[in-house]
Amino acid sequence: MLIIENLKKSFDGFIAINGVSLSIQKGTICSIIGPNGAGKTTLFNLITGHIHVDQGKLTFKGVDITHMSPNRICRLGIGRSFQRANIFPRLTVFENIQAAILVFRGMGFNFYKSVKSLFLEETEAILKMVGLFDAKDEMSISLSYGAQKQLEIGIALASEPELLLLDEPTAGMSLQETKQTIELIARIVLEKGLTLLFTEHDMDVVFSISQRITVLHQGKVIAEGSPDQVRNDPYVQRVYIGDVR
Ligand code: ADP
Ligand code: MG
Repeated sequence: MLIIENLKKSFDGFIAINGVSLSIQKGTICSIIGPNGAGKTTLFNLITGHIHVDQGKLTFKGVDITHMSPNRICRLGIGRSFQRANIFPRLTVFENIQAAILVFRGMGFNFYKSVKSLFLEETEAILKMVGLFDAKDEMSISLSYGAQKQLEIGIALASEPELLLLDEPTAGMSLQETKQTIELIARIVLEKGLTLLFTEHDMDVVFSISQRITVLHQGKVIAEGSPDQVRNDPYVQRVYIGDVR
């Protein structure tokens, strides 16, 4: 589904992504792990077109997306969540999802008042999927941290992605919230037949739901494989995860 070939990105001479190659198979749950500063977020931003690629190639569903705009890449089917940045705090939960659908369908958000009756079923379906149907009339600003993260995922789903990128979807969550959110994500991915690429610091979560794990270290892939392969890789153990048994 996604082929990353020899990707490179520097910031003012600092090499953040240093020749990353990776393939993501359709319908799989894949994670990228690595210490802070390894380049995980940068890699996501390169995939979604939010920062420019210096060198290398990105191919999604056979289409070269290396130099495409974020908007076109999103329309091709790569969705992501943006840590709360795109939640409208003074809209209700329902309105936030509806607005995201409207924007994706090319209806200007300016016309919101006149399009209030559009996409009601689509909005409700997403609310149910992310477990926020009962909270649909609450102001988004009043949601708990965990519920805001659920809303972010709902907003990402409004663009009907085939490949969903989630950058630390459980950051800042309690253990209980983390567990619930991960169960939710796994269920949605399965139900919708999505492909998931996510980053996560909680190794229990990573090893419990990933089918493939890529370990990034100083902008390079140092290991890639099944959870067992990665867990037992001596180099990975030495530089990063330690003993995660
Ligand atoms: P991770 O998400 O794995 O923690 P990042 O991709 O955020 O890592 O960052 C990788 C490295 O690139 C870090 O050293 C970070 O400081 C640097 N970096 C990321 N974005 C920028 C930027 N816009 N300008 C300069 N340096 C950046
Ligand atoms: Mg990051």
